Amino acid sequence: MTMDAEAKMQFLFALRSKGVTDKRVLEAMESIDRGVFLRGIFARRAYEDMPLPIACGQTISQPSVVGLMTQALDVQPRDKVLEVGTGSGYQAAILSQLARRVYTVERHRRLVREARAAFDTLGLTNITAFTADGSHGLEEQAPFDRILVTAAAEDPPGPLLAQLRVGGIMVVPVGQSDAVQSLIKVTRSETGLDYVELRPVRFVPLVEGLGQE
Ligand code: SAH
Repeated sequence: MTMDAEAKMQFLFALRSKGVTDKRVLEAMESIDRGVFLRGIFARRAYEDMPLPIACGQTISQPSVVGLMTQALDVQPRDKVLEVGTGSGYQAAILSQLARRVYTVERHRRLVREARAAFDTLGLTNITAFTADGSHGLEEQAPFDRILVTAAAEDPPGPLLAQLRVGGIMVVPVGQSDAVQSLIKVTRSETGLDYVELRPVRFVPLVEGLGQE
């Protein structure tokens, strides 16, 4: 077996052992090369189950966390999904394998540019990336079947809750940025919002306004 194939097998094994068991999620993570979303020395570590640095002082999430969040979102093939916090674009690429259409929003222009290049490299055509403050959501495309926030907010942002369709699900890390946060799953029913706490996580903070670069 080549190094790559062995690294990939270990990667999938690590995902399963951390609770990523949904077949469609595992298939998506098998088919998207995480190395395309990393630069330089970090690209060689793409199949380690570790968060790694990307441009603008941000991080690409740990693969098992990406898997668990995607699994919790329960994406259906006809879904229109919004991701807040494009970062490297890796999570959006995973979502693109499971949903009809993915909109992803990032406050750093440079990250959006690099993520778009990665989507092109992989031939992913159902993702649209915007530079914007995602805490306001994406009014023009609302409502969404699923919303995934990959930066931590003190509370689930009101505009995002408002852009969630009835029957829709939002997954969001909630808590202070310098502490351990809780991953929350919010479901909108006919009568209101249901909240379930899933697990402790650690994300960079959701920051207002656009980034410097
Ligand atoms: N999902 C990413 C990792 C997210 S890191 C991946 O797969 O690589 C969190 C990202 O959220 C960072 O890139 C940060 O710049 C971005 N972010 C923080 N606040 C934001 C906001 N208000 N609107 C849009 N993006 C935001």
